[in-house]
Amino acid sequence: MDKINIFKEILKRKIKSDIIYRDFFVTAFNDINPVAPIHIILIPNNYIKNINNVNNSDIFILGKMLLVCSKIAKYKNIDISGYRLVINCNKDSGQEIDYFHIHILGGKFLGNFICNI
Ligand code: 5GP
Repeated sequence: MDKINIFKEILKRKIKSDIIYRDFFVTAFNDINPVAPIHIILIPNNYIKNINNVNNSDIFILGKMLLVCSKIAKYKNIDISGYRLVINCNKDSGQEIDYFHIHILGGKFLGNFICNI
């Protein structure tokens, strides 16, 4: 049997989540285990495994996702204070869920990411 994909289940509302934004193309919900006061996951409604699997037909959705990130940041009042977008890909990044997603992190000083690697 296929492993359950949590984000697919969230989309189908078979697993409960705090969905904060949804339109025809994308869905955003609060991360269950936040690492910052604001930690939101944004996914495309059509399944993409990870950034390695995007192609020309995904250019619109990638742009749409960045636009929605900026709108969510404004709505959550972190657009001026600042925020970080994170995309993990495969094992070395620590990607847990095989469903392309963007983490939107903010609400506190996040430090200098490059220096903390
Ligand atoms: P990744 O490491 O794949 O980039 O991030 C997966 C994220 O999904 C993690 O931050 C994790 O806390 C979050 N997550 C895992 N399971 C659930 C769940 O059932 N509900 C929600 N809302 N987030 C989840």
